[in-house]
Amino acid sequence: MHIVQIAAELAPIAKVGGLADVIYGLSKELTRLGHRVDILLPKYDTLHLEALKKLKVTSTHTLWSGQLESLRVTLIDPHPPHSFFNRGMIYGCKDDIERFAAFCKAAMDFLFREEKQPDVIHAHDWHTALIPILYKEIYANKKSLLKGVVFTIHNMEHQGKCLPLDLKSIGLKLENSLFLDKMQDPSNPGDLNLLKGGIVYADAVTTVSPTYEKEIQTPEGGFGLESTLIEYNKKLTGILNGIDEDFWNPEKDPYLFHKYPTHNIDKSTLSAVIAGKKENRRKLCARLNCKESQGPLVAVVSRLVPQKGPELMKHAMKRTLEAGGQFILLGSSPIPSLHQEFEALALKNNENATILLDKDEGLAHQIFAAADMLLIPSLFEPCGLTQMIALRYGTIPIARVTGGLADTVFDVDTSLRPEEERNGFTFEGSDAEGVDWALLRALKCFQQDQEKWHRLMLQGMGQDFSWKSAAAHYVQLYRSDLKKEPF
Ligand code: ADP
Repeated sequence: MHIVQIAAELAPIAKVGGLADVIYGLSKELTRLGHRVDILLPKYDTLHLEALKKLKVTSTHTLWSGQLESLRVTLIDPHPPHSFFNRGMIYGCKDDIERFAAFCKAAMDFLFREEKQPDVIHAHDWHTALIPILYKEIYANKKSLLKGVVFTIHNMEHQGKCLPLDLKSIGLKLENSLFLDKMQDPSNPGDLNLLKGGIVYADAVTTVSPTYEKEIQTPEGGFGLESTLIEYNKKLTGILNGIDEDFWNPEKDPYLFHKYPTHNIDKSTLSAVIAGKKENRRKLCARLNCKESQGPLVAVVSRLVPQKGPELMKHAMKRTLEAGGQFILLGSSPIPSLHQEFEALALKNNENATILLDKDEGLAHQIFAAADMLLIPSLFEPCGLTQMIALRYGTIPIARVTGGLADTVFDVDTSLRPEEERNGFTFEGSDAEGVDWALLRALKCFQQDQEKWHRLMLQGMGQDFSWKSAAAHYVQLYRSDLKKEPF
């Protein structure tokens, strides 16, 4: 099949968060299965172009093509005057709606003008929610082999709400849009809602974990679109993301100070994992100029936004230090007040706490390898990748039971799963008590019951979080009779 992925992020060349990892990992697995995959991405001025081979301008300075390993990437730069993608950032501009609308229009023009003839187009999140809308409103009657447009929701919080005026330049008949059965926002009748439009217009809608699929159909998880999702739930599926097995592999991770095994670990080879993690911790502490403590190392690698539970992170830091542990946080925040709060904490100079307010891929890998535990106290979490990465690196997740975390982290003491599937510590409440319940058990287990701790490491490292099963699920969806649902 020929599948075109259209998205705002792609690891490692344009990464803000997990969306980038998903586009990369899913596309790689699809090519491994023998499918032809093209990825369309805005040509941001911040792209890490060094990863793209054979990069060349392919048409009139607006289209560039290149090769990211086995993946064909087309970079689209809608023409000036606005310099939409020369802003030194991926998101966060006042005219983000216009920027991504222009990208979507240019992407569809490219696909249909050049008669690329894909079997399926797969769009992601509000930034490319206009793809199914443009297809149905403008391009569907053009000659094409397209079976349909799949739309994946990675996060309900960001919906692309805007005024009809914001979309004036992309050729949609906007007088048709402000209706409840089209793109009208359910809470603000004068606004359009792009994410809603994507849900209404796409032939199939997916989200990134089975639990999140259920949560987004409730007022707590739907961010105002729960009724829309309930109405269209026949075309909605939750498919659990994976992680790329090569990119996240301690056996060959180029960022690690010391590589260590991750496959087929048993009691006799676990000592090599433990020694490898120890060596990574020693070198990480040297790199960060922090004290190398003997206590358990609890880490956080996260965007610092309310969704991720920043208050709970701070509380966990306090508790970890009280219990004689070491705490390292790597986080970046687009919210100035949150950035300042963590900056103030960083300045407190506790020798067992290191707070790094940065976005650094290499450092993230080094922390996953060095840590004993990774804390993920999200208030909601569509899928979450860091818990899967942690498990692969022999690091035990401490996670709140929500969204994809509920589908991947199973409490060693309380899970209803068979004992051999349990892999971490979980908590339900989104308050300090909740964190304490899981964190204090984890710290105690590490300090007092190494045998149990090692069993958890073994079980986690043995679990399959690759893209294999998810990619097969997507292929099944792409192959299905996508247009059978009445539109
Ligand atoms: P989200 O997409 O909501 O940010 P995910 O868990 O799905 O959360 O994905 C997060 C991705 O971003 C992971 O690959 C993680 O390692 C990475 N990441 C998060 N924060 C940082 C940071 N400060 N520096 C480097 N990588 C980070």
